[in-house]
Parts: sequence; structure tokens; C-alpha cells
Amino acid sequence: MDLRLKKERKASLGILPTPLMPLKRLSRRYHCEMWMKRDDLIGMGMGGNKTRKLEYLLGEALEKHCDTVITAGAVQSNHCRQTAAACARLGLECHLLLGGCEQPAQGNLLLDHLFGAKIHWAGSSRKGEDMELLAENLKKQGRKIYLIPYGGSDAVGALGFVYAVEELLIQEKQMNIQTDAILFASSSGGTQAGLVVGNQFYRAGKQVYGIGIDKSPTGEPDTREKIEEIVATITDQSGLSMPEPDIQLNGDFMDRPYAECGELEKHAMTVFAREEGVVLDPVYTGRAFGGLLRLLEAGMFKNRKILLWHTGGAPAIFAYHSQLT
Ligand SMILES: *Cc1c(COP(=O)(O)O)cnc(C)c1O
Repeated sequence: MDLRLKKERKASLGILPTPLMPLKRLSRRYHCEMWMKRDDLIGMGMGGNKTRKLEYLLGEALEKHCDTVITAGAVQSNHCRQTAAACARLGLECHLLLGGCEQPAQGNLLLDHLFGAKIHWAGSSRKGEDMELLAENLKKQGRKIYLIPYGGSDAVGALGFVYAVEELLIQEKQMNIQTDAILFASSSGGTQAGLVVGNQFYRAGKQVYGIGIDKSPTGEPDTREKIEEIVATITDQSGLSMPEPDIQLNGDFMDRPYAECGELEKHAMTVFAREEGVVLDPVYTGRAFGGLLRLLEAGMFKNRKILLWHTGGAPAIFAYHSQLT
């Protein structure tokens, strides 16, 4: 596979490039130059980083003449919501396996219904453990299935973030700026794997710094293992040589279980809202940038030019009002 050829086969879903904007007041407050890449404004179904992955995943689904997509996630999964929206636009039937049980439609779940997705409740499994079974059942009904792993994180989806590095470099050149580190929330691994490969492929020379937000129970592959696996698959398939990929993943901010919003997240959401008018989400960007604020307070990244990749997630806040007020 030639990385340059893959690009031709994507489904066009996002409004690209996404805006790159300075965070002037936060830069002054924390003594560094801060920029934000706004994938929350990517334009597909209320935005987020999964749209970049879905361009390649659903591009492949269409190429294979599939008519039905199955994916999985937590009740408030941004990935599932963006998949539902993208499937609606492309005329594909969308089935979502969501962790938990039937509940009032709020936040992302409300949007899943609005986009016409078929919801299946998966109890305690929120990472697609039952996808194969559902696929078998739908195949018997004559559907042609395309399976997307939770988070859209595999070697196809991650290509969206390989090319996002090229997009960023072009944008920085046009704006005559040069950031030296990219910081973001890392969870199912596709975003970080793509950025790591893209950083090398385009010789961007940036520090790619993920902040882990989802601690896997023992025995499950964790975020780092998933990143390593996806990087290895992309490099194998494309003939790129990356013997020891530089995977920087900070796991210091995962005291609370996945999707539980505490003081760290609330503080970050308040700071970004009141200093910059930017809405973070309680699960991913809230935790990651809450962690980043602590690192900045400890003097890390001082005088550096850092880019915060806003990966979206804001629709979830409407399901979190009791934890946020
Ligand atoms: C999925 C998601 C992430 C993490 O991306 P991964 O590729 O799963 O690591 C970060 N932020 C938001 C808002 C997300 O929905």
C-alpha cells in the first residue's frame, strides 16, 4: 500500500482543513504559545476526530459495496454518533452496539436516534465484544456488513490522522507559524498512531504527546499496546521503516474510571470556556487538557509553541449536567 494512493479512496465527510486558532489569553496565563486545532468544528454531525477516520473507513465500505455498518462504544460515544451521521449522509444502514441498557435519549444518544441509527444494548461490554454475533445475524438477513472497531481505531481509520499531519503542515506554512508539540486525548489509539506515523512520514519533527483518558482493566490491551499494533500494521503495509516508534503517552490523569467527570475535568472545562469561549467535553478533552493545565502549572512546555488538538465531544455535556453543575 502506498500511503499517497490511499488518499484518493476516501469518502469526503469533513470540512477540511479544520480551523487552527491561537489561544491568546491562555498563552499569556501559562507562558507559552498555545494553538488549537479545531476538529470539533469538522462539520459532520456535530464534529469530532472520528470523522477523519470515518473518511477512510467508510471509503473502504463503499468500495467493498457494503450496505450496512456496525460499530460499538459507550452510551455517550462520540465515535458512534459521528458514524451514525456519516452513514446517514452516505445512505448506509448503521447499527450501534452501546454499553449499558435502554435509557432516556440525551446528548450523543439523542443524536444517534436522530441520525436514524439502530441501537443494540450491550450491557457491560462497550468495546464491541458482541459485534461478530450481530454481524452474523444481519448477514443471514442478506445485509453486506462493514465492521468498524470501537473508536474507529484500526490501520484504515488511523490513516485519517496520518494525512491530518500533512494538513497541519500546509496550514502552518500558510499562517507562517511552527508549533513544536501536539497534545491531545488518547484512548482507542487510532488518533495517536496516525499522528505518530504522519509525523515521521511528512518529517514534521513535532513532539507527539498523548494524554491517556481510559484505563483498561487488566488483561485488556491498553492504549499503548493498541497504538503500537496500529503503527506496526500501517508501516508493514506501506513499507515505511519505523523500528522504534516514539510513543509518548502520559497516563497520570486516570484516577477516575472512564467517562466519570470530576474536579480535574470540570476545572479544565471552566478555564477553556471562560478564557477562550471554547467548549471542552467531560470525558476526553476535559480530562486531557485538565492534565495539561497541571503540567503547565508544574512548568512543563514553558516558552514552547504547543498545539492542542481539540478532538470534539461537546454534545456529551448535555448528558452530564448533574455532574457539571
Ligand atoms: C475518541 C475520542 C478521542 C480519542 O481518540 P482515539 O483515537 O480513540 O485515541 C479523543 N477525544 C474525543 C472527543 C473522542 O471522541
